[in-house]
Amino acid sequence: MKAAVFTAVDRVEIRDLPIPVPDQGQVRLKVLGCGVCGTDVHIYSGHIRNAAPPVVLGHEIYGEVDAVGKGVVAVEPGERVVVDPFVFCGYCDFCKQAKYQFCRNEAFLGYQRPGGFAQYTIVPAVNTYKLDPGIDIRQAVLAETLSTVLAGLSKLAPETGGTAMILGAGTVGLLWNVLMKKHLTVTLIQTELVNSRRSKARARGADRVINPSEEEPGNTVHELCPDGVDYLIDASGSTEAIEQALPLLARGGTFLSFGICPENQRLSLSLNWFYKQQIRFLTSRRPPREMQRAVNLIENKVLSIGDLTTGVYSLDELERAFERFTGARDEEIKMMIDPWR
Ligand SMILES: [Zn+2]
Ligand SMILES: [Zn+2]
Repeated sequence: MKAAVFTAVDRVEIRDLPIPVPDQGQVRLKVLGCGVCGTDVHIYSGHIRNAAPPVVLGHEIYGEVDAVGKGVVAVEPGERVVVDPFVFCGYCDFCKQAKYQFCRNEAFLGYQRPGGFAQYTIVPAVNTYKLDPGIDIRQAVLAETLSTVLAGLSKLAPETGGTAMILGAGTVGLLWNVLMKKHLTVTLIQTELVNSRRSKARARGADRVINPSEEEPGNTVHELCPDGVDYLIDASGSTEAIEQALPLLARGGTFLSFGICPENQRLSLSLNWFYKQQIRFLTSRRPPREMQRAVNLIENKVLSIGDLTTGVYSLDELERAFERFTGARDEEIKMMIDPWR
């Protein structure tokens, strides 16, 4: 089978690998599509070092069950599934307390184990979620990202009628936009540097979309929400943007750090201010098993997300897609790889 193997920083090799055989409890998928995530790009460029090369990257996997190992009864060959890439051990002290997100032996498909930038991949059956085969592939590849946003939303638990600001309008920022609007956020402000993304944020329902390089977000917030916003969600991973926006939170407001900021950056804000304003500070990392709700939303066509997947590329074009992630931000939102192209 054809596979794109990440071998070292700035290096992906297209290789012909044997078709893997599923072990007990495992499923072999014929990969139909796999989303390109910012994390993949950061791994490729060496900014994030949590992958174990040589490895096939890609954790936003949509595929057709091709073969099943012993003991697999939940899925059958021919069924379409999306995949939760988080694999926990089940026997460490955290897993035994059902705190799987803290598993001491965690592994991710597409980081430490082979992922979806290949024609076939092996996944634990328990990580697969059936998806109606009638769903468009461009939406199917969004399921994994959507599940992470749903996990963040559960943590944030926004009240209906609140006000919010979202930093960034890439795939994650636009999904946040759609979900916050469904929570009847009365005023939704979004910031984004890229033109085409700003118009997508406006089309999704943001009340005001700001280009922070041209306009001070504080002016808009003070105009629309004189006391500040109730919720601030970072979907940009920019420490600088967060530092600029945090003082715009209302008293008792909540900040959710969702975008992944570079390890070496620091905030310089007064804890005394956090105390006086009584700000809640939340983070969201993967709690596993959020995929079913993402599947429910996609199958029931509850969210307008069909146009978020902008580009479809072949395995040979994976490095080009990585380059376009930063170099063609005006044209691309979510890109996906079709390994049969
Ligand atoms: Zn991802
Ligand atoms: Zn564990």
